[in-house]
Amino acid sequence: MTQVYNFSAGPAMMPKAVLEQAQKELLNWQNQGTSVMEVSHRGKLFMELITQADKDFRELFHIPDNYKILFLQGGARGQFAAIPMNLIGEKGKALYLNSGHWSGTAAKEARNFCEIDELSIIETDANGVISVNRTDFSNIAEQYDYVHYCTNETISGVEIKEIPNVGNTVLVADMSSNILSSKIDISKFGVIYAGAQKNLGPAGITIVIVREDLIGKARKDTPSIWNYEVQANADSMINTPPTFAWYLCSLVFKHLLTTGGLEAVEQRNLSKAQRLYDYLNQSTFYRNYIAEQNRSVMNVTFTTDNDELNAKFVAEATACGLQALKGHKVLGGMRASIYNAMPIEGVDALIAFMDKFAKENS
Ligand SMILES: *Cc1c(COP(=O)(O)O)cnc(C)c1O
Repeated sequence: MTQVYNFSAGPAMMPKAVLEQAQKELLNWQNQGTSVMEVSHRGKLFMELITQADKDFRELFHIPDNYKILFLQGGARGQFAAIPMNLIGEKGKALYLNSGHWSGTAAKEARNFCEIDELSIIETDANGVISVNRTDFSNIAEQYDYVHYCTNETISGVEIKEIPNVGNTVLVADMSSNILSSKIDISKFGVIYAGAQKNLGPAGITIVIVREDLIGKARKDTPSIWNYEVQANADSMINTPPTFAWYLCSLVFKHLLTTGGLEAVEQRNLSKAQRLYDYLNQSTFYRNYIAEQNRSVMNVTFTTDNDELNAKFVAEATACGLQALKGHKVLGGMRASIYNAMPIEGVDALIAFMDKFAKENS
C-alpha cells in the first residue's frame, strides 16, 4: 500500500503512536481481560483514567486552577446552545463576532435562546483577499453578558491570532479546530470549547473549559446534560459518557506530553504551515485568498481558480495517497487540514505533488 497522508478537516487523523497503543490494549486494558469500553465508567480504573486525563490536559494546555474541564457530548454544536443557556444572566444579551461559517452558525443557534447582536469582523478586498478587520471591542462589550467568537474558521482557513479585547466582559471561544495547536493565555477566556475530532481525539466527545465563577448561572429550563454546574458536580458523568473516546483523548494528551508538550507542538505546526504558505506565495498556479496575518496554521485553503482543474487535482492527489484535500462544499477549491497529528513529511509530500501537478497543467 502507498503511504497515505490524510488531510481530512474532521474527523481528522490521530497520532499513529496513539492508535498503536489503543490497538495493543484493545482486548486487555489494565490487565482486566476486557477492553476499556466494556468497564464501568464509575469503576476505580476508569475514574483514575479521567483524573489523569484532566491532570494531563491541564498541564499540557497550561489551564489555571480556577477553571473546570468538562468532557461532554453533543459536539461543538451542542455548545452553540449550551453557551447561551449557561451564560445569559444579568444583561440578557450577547455579542457574536462573525468571521465565517462556524461563528455565523453559532450565532444563529444562540438566537433561539437569547437576544444577540451579531457583528461581522471580516472584509474582502478588491482582489478577493479576506482579512479580520477588528479585534478591539472594549468600547461596546460592557452591555453584553459575553462575547463569542471562533478562533479558527475551519472552512475558509481564517485564524484570529490576537485575542479580542472585550474589557471585563466574558470572552467565549469556539476552538474546535485549533485547540492545543499553540500556546494561548487561557485566563483571557471565560469559556473555551471544542469538539474533539480535529485536534484532541475521535468524534463523540467535546471539551469545555469553563472559569469556575461562571458555573451555576444557567437558566432554570436548561437540560441537565447541558448544565455546566450539574456536569461539573458529577465529573461530567450525569449520563454514561463516551468512554472509549475519552480514553483515546487521554492517550493523545499523554503522547503530546511525552513528545515535548505544547511548545514542541506549536513549533511543528508553525513550520508545517510556513512551508505550505511559502510554497503558495511563490506559486502563480495556486492561490490562497486569506490575508497573511489571518492564515490558519491548521486549515490551509488554496485553489487554481478553475473548478475542473481543482477536481482533477483532488482526484490525482487521492490516487497518490494524499487524501481528503477537497475543499468544503460551501467554498470549493482545496483544503489541507494539517492538525497536530499531521507529520511534516505529509506536508512535504503535498508540496511535491502540488509542484508536479502545476508543472503538468500550466
Ligand atoms: C467542526 C467544527 C464545528 C462543529 O463541530 P461538531 O462537533 O460537529 O458539532 C464547530 N466549530 C468549528 C470551528 C469546527 O471546526
